[in-house]
Amino acid sequence: TVAVVGSINMDVVARVPRIPGPGETLLASGSSRGGGGKGANQAVAAARAGGVPTAFIGAVGDDADGAQLRAWLEDDGIDVSGLSRDEAPSGVALIAVSDDAENSIIVVPGANQSLTALADAQRALVAGADVIAAQLEIPIDLVVAAAEARGEGALFVLNAAPSAPLLDAADRVLPLVDVLIVNEHELIDIAGVTDRDAAVDALSARVPALVVTLGAAGSLIAVGAERAIVPAFPVDPVDTTGAGDTFCGVLAARLGRGPLSLEALAAAAHAGAAAAAIAVPRVGAQAAVPTAAEVEELLA
Ligand code: ADP
Repeated sequence: TVAVVGSINMDVVARVPRIPGPGETLLASGSSRGGGGKGANQAVAAARAGGVPTAFIGAVGDDADGAQLRAWLEDDGIDVSGLSRDEAPSGVALIAVSDDAENSIIVVPGANQSLTALADAQRALVAGADVIAAQLEIPIDLVVAAAEARGEGALFVLNAAPSAPLLDAADRVLPLVDVLIVNEHELIDIAGVTDRDAAVDALSARVPALVVTLGAAGSLIAVGAERAIVPAFPVDPVDTTGAGDTFCGVLAARLGRGPLSLEALAAAAHAGAAAAAIAVPRVGAQAAVPTAAEVEELLA
């Protein structure tokens, strides 16, 4: 099983002719609401495209958005017994998408910031999981608590997105990480050097396994001194929102309990790339995540 510890938001998306400037009011041609937040997106990817029993650990508010977000996770068969209900309102992301595919996003974290320690039931879910996946849209104390609660032999996978919270917590967090997943920006930011190869060398010396996603160029994986490139599947992108989350959720699901070899990591990254390739020609984050059957078909 996979336990995802992370953020969950109500995404409110408005389609606008262009991104409004300061003081400007624009009419949108339409709006939609959907499940979002890196944590919830990765849980949906693990459960739906990864085809693995998945539990989500996070927090929503005691409000209508929270009830809807919980129901959407349940629709994907995700165990929500570790989704706590907080006094703060559910997290919301206000997203403007323009006709030329620019976007601007305001995130109101709300309940996502309130969970700083694991309750007993949440701790039990983490302790029983083969893989624990976390990101950095939640308090760093919760990330550390999740890593420390893992069972013997379980893998802790950290997607360091956004990278900022890790900058002054790297010494505390990185020693707990089995697999670190970053995109190119996060890699440079965390390593503190601008040369990509130097940054990979620096970071891979600090974690057993490193994955650097490179968009349409695939991903670079490093286990110890070994390196490999896992290519992406060529597709015409329509909406790359959530491509990284789909990749991470499926990679975590496919890793299983290890052991962590370059071959095992490459196979998991290959499945993640397949799922992301099916998602990028589709609109939306969670809505774009394929089923496990679709992923198997592309991998066959
Ligand atoms: P992020 O969205 O976090 O910056 P990336 O853009 O690196 O992450 O994408 C994550 C993974 O999704 C890539 O490693 C790749 O497998 C897949 N992917 C992303 N964009 C494309 C694309 N345009 N075509 C095919 N695969 C893609």
